[in-house]
Amino acid sequence: MFLVINMKDYLIKAYAFDGTVRIYTAVTTDLVAHAQNIHDLWPTSAAALGRLLTVSVIMGAMYANDQELTIRVEGNGPIGSMVTSTTTKGEVRGYVENPHVFLQYNSGKLNVGQSVGNGFIHVTKDLKVRNLFTSSSEIQTGEIAEDFAYYFTASEQIPSAVGLGVLVNDDNKILSSGGFILQVMPGCKEETIKDIEEKISKLLPVSEMIQNGYTPEDIMNEISGNNYQHLQTLDLNYYCTCSREKFEKGLISLGKEQILEIIKEDKKIETVCHFCNTKYQFNESDLNELLVKMK
Ligand SMILES: [Zn+2]
Repeated sequence: MFLVINMKDYLIKAYAFDGTVRIYTAVTTDLVAHAQNIHDLWPTSAAALGRLLTVSVIMGAMYANDQELTIRVEGNGPIGSMVTSTTTKGEVRGYVENPHVFLQYNSGKLNVGQSVGNGFIHVTKDLKVRNLFTSSSEIQTGEIAEDFAYYFTASEQIPSAVGLGVLVNDDNKILSSGGFILQVMPGCKEETIKDIEEKISKLLPVSEMIQNGYTPEDIMNEISGNNYQHLQTLDLNYYCTCSREKFEKGLISLGKEQILEIIKEDKKIETVCHFCNTKYQFNESDLNELLVKMK
């Protein structure tokens, strides 16, 4: 029997080690369970997408205002590509090309690395001005945490440690999910870095801590040695921004001839949002209305 802990998903942001290190810790169990439910994720797909949703929503919290991040992990493993989109306000959504992957190591641990495979991470920042900025880095192990630690260090020149974990039960229930990102700022002493490395090497896996009832504050205490300066708390949710209007715009962008062809051949079309699986139906009269709008 498992102890049921009712805890809402949230993250906290703090400074530690005399203000030379920035740390984010997050619990994401509910939002990953929601993603699993929407996408019918099998254990390894759930662990992979859950880790990516977690690192994504934490990264979103690094920015301010109305910005959006789109993160793509394009590996050559059986999972295929994964995509997430996140705001700065703790709202995240995502999907995986193949939701039905269940691959384990001999130990029984979920083999996320091999399921993701080799390839690249692409992080696109939509600053809601004219340009999109994309930076990329190579997938290191496919286990996601190492890949993002490398991304921050190589692409953003911020030495970082990343821990992510999703625990999936034998009956495919998400028991726990969460993670942390630790970023070293300029001026951090060599001995502080050694101290951090030692603390992190002694940490229990994040998913285990959360299953044991640890809150983001408890994880922060473990990493910082019970000494941190709290900066922010942010509720986290799986949230999709799709709407019928957005799909209408998509159909309009197909062009008049394409829509006339749909009317002639099928008389209707069903569009599906990849992020939340909501279906939007457009019948003949809806499509005719779109044609009127296009004139
Ligand atoms: Zn949607």
